[in-house]
Amino acid sequence: MDASDLLERARSRAGDPADPLETLTAAIALGGELSTDADALLDLAVRQARQAGASWTAIGERFGFSKQAARKRFTPPFAHRQLANRRRKLDMACSFCRQPPGARVHMVHGEGGRICEQCVELAHEIVAGMAKRR
Ligand SMILES: [Zn+2]
Repeated sequence: MDASDLLERARSRAGDPADPLETLTAAIALGGELSTDADALLDLAVRQARQAGASWTAIGERFGFSKQAARKRFTPPFAHRQLANRRRKLDMACSFCRQPPGARVHMVHGEGGRICEQCVELAHEIVAGMAKRR
């Protein structure tokens, strides 16, 4: 399908096919649909390649961009948000037991990490036990 075929298709959709600006309006809409279709085509092809076990590195190579760019481009935004949320939760977790923060988990924040109240208690018991043995 070449550009003049597509232009004819746009003209046939135009309110007034004799008006070039009406044809342009129809061409803009058609172009939007085509690029959505092209994106959907690539999304589907990438999803199938991933399901068949292709790596992000191999997929990125086909497009001429990096593994990270390929993953970023073709991972649905929802999955990105989930990953970011999980990472943020992990960043906020207790540095000792990895317990995530929560309404019922008190956390003491320090410069390079944080400690939950259970770990504070455990640490207190350990230190108290050491003191007794001295
Ligand atoms: Zn802890």
